[in-house]
Amino acid sequence: MRQISLWVVLVLLVGGLNIYPSYGSKELENSKVFYDASSGKEVVMEKIEKTNKEWKSQLTKEQYHVTREQGTERAFTGKYHDNKEKGMYTCVACDLDLFSSETKYDSGTGWPSYWEPVSKENVGTETDNKLFMARTEVHCARCGAHLGHVFPDGPEPTGQRYCINSASLNFKKV
Ligand SMILES: [Zn+2]
Repeated sequence: MRQISLWVVLVLLVGGLNIYPSYGSKELENSKVFYDASSGKEVVMEKIEKTNKEWKSQLTKEQYHVTREQGTERAFTGKYHDNKEKGMYTCVACDLDLFSSETKYDSGTGWPSYWEPVSKENVGTETDNKLFMARTEVHCARCGAHLGHVFPDGPEPTGQRYCINSASLNFKKV
């Protein structure tokens, strides 16, 4: 009995001590440094978290399927695979700058392809074993929207091919 109450006191103490540090770091976790292409500067922006219901009401059916359910649009069907205009490709879900037209090239795959993101800060990657082979998934670092995959068969200077769904992107002409 005495031992149990000692444990209770200990657990309460440890729990109590943890409240303040975790509260403080949670606030920091919600913000992150991103690259803003229009100013050419790094800026602190809030990360975006929404419920599936909120994403569904904001996005079209296809945009939702690709960005939130790791979907892939059919090759050659997207808006931007053949777009050669100069500008910035941004996240369709949160507007973050993702890829510049300066790094876009014709990969012949039917998906918009880039050899580099606008900044490593803006684009996250994760290993994806879905098709029984390891691929590297690419997502928006601000809202988590799935964008596509990156493969090591791109052109110079990086040798990378960021194979991105048009449905994950908006385009801002410059
Ligand atoms: Zn985003």
